[in-house]
Amino acid sequence: MARIRVVLDFPKWLVEQPVTCRLIRDYDLEVNILKAKVTPREEGRLVIEVSGKKKSLDKGMDYLKDIGIRVTPLAQDINFQEDRCTHCTYCVSLCPVGAFDVDRGIMEVTFDKEKCILCEQCVKICPYKAIRIQF
Ligand code: SF4
Ligand code: SF4
Repeated sequence: MARIRVVLDFPKWLVEQPVTCRLIRDYDLEVNILKAKVTPREEGRLVIEVSGKKKSLDKGMDYLKDIGIRVTPLAQDINFQEDRCTHCTYCVSLCPVGAFDVDRGIMEVTFDKEKCILCEQCVKICPYKAIRIQF
């Protein structure tokens, strides 16, 4: 069983297509929607976690790309600039999934990309612009 988290960017003409249903039905995948910004007749974005057999996952992602959806691995979309971080810990208490953590012994903040669900809360509050979401 493999699991990936990806950002899907939909062009306008695909926004109303039931692509997640097709991933489930035709490719035997489990799909968990982490975040959705989809407005009828406008471009849309979904952040999803998909799990299933590796071969099925590859085929499912190929299907999405073939119909015109841009598929970006989630980890490529967030950028933590450690050299800007002052370890103030604002983001640690705010992050809903514990992607930011702090080692209390040395008061150093760390970031785990794998946990991030791109809610963007930390991007808004970081006083030093140390976190950027790249879309
Ligand atoms: S809010 Fe910004 S500066 Fe503060 S710990 Fe988080 S990333 Fe670092
Ligand atoms: S974007 Fe959201 S989930 Fe990701 S690190 Fe920031 S607060 Fe946590």
